[in-house]
Amino acid sequence: MTPLRHKSSLTAIILTSQQMQRLVSLANDSLPKESCALLAGNKSETITHVIDLILMKNSKLSTTSFSIDPQELINAYKNAQKLSMEIVGIFHSHPNGIQPSSTDRKFMELNPIIWLIYSTGLNRYKAYVLNEKTNEIQQVRIIMV
Ligand SMILES: [Zn+2]
Repeated sequence: MTPLRHKSSLTAIILTSQQMQRLVSLANDSLPKESCALLAGNKSETITHVIDLILMKNSKLSTTSFSIDPQELINAYKNAQKLSMEIVGIFHSHPNGIQPSSTDRKFMELNPIIWLIYSTGLNRYKAYVLNEKTNEIQQVRIIMV
C-alpha cells in the first residue's frame, strides 16, 4: 500500500517571538527599502520549523522589490547545509500591502517554500506558500513559540 501523501498540506511555520522581532526590526531599520532574510531550519510535510535567520542585503536597493545577491544566496545555502539545516522560507517586507505581489508570485513558483511577508506600514505579517497542485497561493499558519 502506498501511504497517502499530501504535498499541499504544508500548513504551519513555527518560529520564536524573538526571531519574529528580529525580522520586524530588520524591516523597520531597512526603511524606506524592502528587507529580506532567509529562514533556515527543518521541515516535515506539515510543519516548517525555523531554527536560524540569515539576514540578507537587498541588492536591488529598491523600495518596492528585493533581490538577493547570488553569491550571498549560495553562501547561505552552503552554511545551512553545513549545519544540517535547509532553507525553509524567505522573509521580506512590504511598505504597505501584505499580499504577495505578482513578482513575488513568479519567485514563489521558482522557489515553492514558505514566504513570510511583513508590512511595515500595517505592522502585520502573514505567511504563504504556492500550492503546486492547484497553482494557488495559500496562507500558512504562523505559530509563534
Ligand atoms: Zn513582495
